Amino acid sequence: MTEHTRDFWTNRARAAKLRTQHFIDGAYVSSASGQSFATVNPANGEVITTVARGGQGEVDLAVAVARKAFKSGVWRRMAPRDRMAVLAKFADLIEAHAEEFAVLDSMDMGKPVMDMINIDVPFSATSIRYFAELGDKIEGTVTATDEAALHYILRQPLGVVGIIVPWNYPLMMAAWKLGPALVTGNSVVLKPAEQSPLSACLLAELFIEAGGPAGVLNVVHGLGEDVGKALALHMDVDKIAFTGSTEVGKLLMIYAGQSNMKRVSTECGGKTPQIILGDWDDLETAATYAVNGIFGNQGEVCNAGSRILVERGLHDEFVAKFTEIAAKNFVLGDPLDPATTMGPLVTAQHRDRVMSFIQTGKAEGGRLAFGGGAPAALAKGAYVEPTLFTGVTPAMTIAREEIFGPVAAIMPVDGLDQALEIANDSIYGLAASVWTRDLAKAHRFGREMEAGVCWVNCFDHGDMTSIWGGYKQTGNGRDKCAEALTQYTQTKSVWINLG
Ligand code: NAD
Repeated sequence: MTEHTRDFWTNRARAAKLRTQHFIDGAYVSSASGQSFATVNPANGEVITTVARGGQGEVDLAVAVARKAFKSGVWRRMAPRDRMAVLAKFADLIEAHAEEFAVLDSMDMGKPVMDMINIDVPFSATSIRYFAELGDKIEGTVTATDEAALHYILRQPLGVVGIIVPWNYPLMMAAWKLGPALVTGNSVVLKPAEQSPLSACLLAELFIEAGGPAGVLNVVHGLGEDVGKALALHMDVDKIAFTGSTEVGKLLMIYAGQSNMKRVSTECGGKTPQIILGDWDDLETAATYAVNGIFGNQGEVCNAGSRILVERGLHDEFVAKFTEIAAKNFVLGDPLDPATTMGPLVTAQHRDRVMSFIQTGKAEGGRLAFGGGAPAALAKGAYVEPTLFTGVTPAMTIAREEIFGPVAAIMPVDGLDQALEIANDSIYGLAASVWTRDLAKAHRFGREMEAGVCWVNCFDHGDMTSIWGGYKQTGNGRDKCAEALTQYTQTKSVWINLG
């Protein structure tokens, strides 16, 4: 894919169609209340457009349409290979619209346009394609009974699934959940984050263009406390699939208990440790991964490697390497400039929150090694420079809380035992990495680390077969892998008396 120029992307962004209504039953729908909310470009603070603000009425309508589509069987009764063909075409169309998705999400939440082209769009299409390929491999079982009976277990779709996603990977988080939800025959109501609403309806349009029936994939825009809450409290929604903060994930479980005990799968926060042990001999590689692991996507990543635990003997050399590589790898600027590798944070409010963590880091005794502010030339945008603290102790706020910005904390450790103790002392358990040549230590890390995703001698590697999901208060959801299918289906026992 060509990189194009900054002018190309700026013009592409200006010309992009802005879809600002809800998408229900295959058509655009306004809000009954006439209310809207603004979506702001965090690179310059300008309002891009206003978007329909949904409420209970739009959620009721979308859920009723989704239920009708489910009951009619137009999607769930389609022969698996036909459903697979629709989803395969859907994946192709996502790829064909790469540039449009790239400018929409980049304008909306600030990520570099080339990250969209190289990461978000291809990974989204791959996710839909992977699940499409599994469509006729979703099997039940025939169990061993005596000859007077035949007993089989059917695996069936749940019905209406509400998908609630965050703003950090607007397209990709939706795609990760749409693949397994749709291939298993469910109907969906998708609620994008209010900070990044612009790409969701393009996805829904492309599903229809691929041959998906109207009513199977619907989008309702709005605020979390309105639309998200109404979906999660709805008596006719069978499941909420959620990616977002632990705080909201907990609320969703309460809403399920207050309504119809719908299933809730949660993919929430993280405080990922990156451990570099003393026997590791290639600091250049480990430091490069560590830098990219915390500063990629502006640090607005659930698995951002924000706690870097370095064996004491390597500490000073590692800090020097980390500092040198961070200065080279991350260039702040206009997200629509292909030379930019770090955009603004999602909103000015989030920038202020990240800055307040930096203040707390200093106040609690952390040493600011670099960063900690924003370049004056970019003052109109919500920028924060890549920031490193050294002299951090595990009890400090910046070592414990999810900052969700480009702030790293390096801590010295004495051996794997202490590293594991600190790494596991967290309410979160999404991901972790270790760098070591010692096979026994690598395996011990794999067994003892309380995280759903563990990397040895790499960071952020994986493919569609590798599980994505966490331990502890990161939640119970599992994305990407074949196991995700179990989260969008339920089993039924059919016992046939032959006697
Ligand atoms: P958030 O929880 O504030 O919002 C996520 C979604 O929930 C949005 O669509 C929002 O509108 C909605 N929401 C908010 N309040 C709600 C309510 N009361 N009821 C129902 N829905 C509500 O999170 P965010 O700030 O958009 O995203 C950042 C968080 O997402 C971070 O904690 C990050 O770690 C997490 N995240 C996790 C993963 C993962 O795979 N584990 C991936 C990406 C992001």
